[in-house]
Amino acid sequence: MADWRKQLSLMPVPESISSDPILRNAMHQLIDLGRINESTGIDLFESTDFFPLMKLADMVKQSRFGKHVFFNNNLHVNTTNICVLACRFCAFRKGSRHSEAYALSVEEYTHRIEPFSSEIDEVHSVGGLHPSWTIEHYEELYSTTKDKFPHIHIKSLTAVEIKHLANRSNLSVYQTLSRLEASGLDSIPGGGAEILVDSIRDRICRGKESSQEYLDIHKQAHLLNIPTNCTMLFGTIETIHDRITHLTKLRDLQDETGGFQCFVPYPFLADNSRLPEADLSSANDILRVIAVSRLMLDNIPHIKSYRMNIGDNLGQMALLGGADDIDGTVGHEEIMHSAGSTTSLSSSSQDLCKLIEQVDCIPVKRNSIYSKFEISKSPPTELINIPLLV
Ligand code: SF4
Repeated sequence: MADWRKQLSLMPVPESISSDPILRNAMHQLIDLGRINESTGIDLFESTDFFPLMKLADMVKQSRFGKHVFFNNNLHVNTTNICVLACRFCAFRKGSRHSEAYALSVEEYTHRIEPFSSEIDEVHSVGGLHPSWTIEHYEELYSTTKDKFPHIHIKSLTAVEIKHLANRSNLSVYQTLSRLEASGLDSIPGGGAEILVDSIRDRICRGKESSQEYLDIHKQAHLLNIPTNCTMLFGTIETIHDRITHLTKLRDLQDETGGFQCFVPYPFLADNSRLPEADLSSANDILRVIAVSRLMLDNIPHIKSYRMNIGDNLGQMALLGGADDIDGTVGHEEIMHSAGSTTSLSSSSQDLCKLIEQVDCIPVKRNSIYSKFEISKSPPTELINIPLLV
């Protein structure tokens, strides 16, 4: 039994959980059988009360990490919004002749990092599928960035960008990743998983990599010891069953490779996109997805509250229902903001600490690969003397 399961088995169980047959069964499966099966996963989504579900997810989170919540100091820099595909949920991409289309040169890219370079230790970079960039462009991008800012971890490229780059460069995915790693790529974000069910992908992102290709690309990265994250875009046209299929596929690959660090679920934001039939997620649904993910993904250690997408308020609530990690200082973000996110981009690490402490959790600054940790604190609130009016 992994230690966290033992911890979980020793925790007092509130009556709201012990009196609910689905939650009781989920707890039994986790503690005694090791994992929650797919049919219980569906029941958790469909037939449990909201607060007891959140509580159980929080117990599992606390059995692993106590009250600690992780964040890092990072910066998002999107390399280009020009894309040869046109996923229906995407508000970010532009055609190459569009007046707002851009493609950062290597110099422009490093200029974007420069003002933040002393505060951050990670740059997170994804972009569209540029029609002419090949691997040489990215090799120069990463090696120049590493030369200028050796302390900055480069987390870059979604699975579909890697596939596109491999095709354009006449290389296998493995060769592509090996060369990029040698030039400075440190890890891969999880974007582009959407829902790992091909009939859904065909309707929301035709032309993108298949479910199996997404998993294979991450597997190749894991074989090269490149850590990756994984994601789920929900609230489009998928069913609960599709969500559970998605989580199960990620869980199966993690059993094989152990290379996923963090799972990042985020709801579809509809502004400027082309998916009118989407069944948009409510706040209840968003928090429920995060809670069920914590319960189903027993082998992926971290579950992220992606505040760039769900906002700071819901992001805080997620920390009480299964999430143990919250998106970092960020500085600049285009993909979610093109689709309607209004989350502030100017958070300092002190703001993040405060956000975490406000829900009675302990902020822990981490590095990109979760190997260095530092307990943080927001600065003490200044006491102001206000004369009492009597
Ligand atoms: S989601 Fe990615 S691949 Fe799809 S259109 Fe947008 S930028 Fe292109």
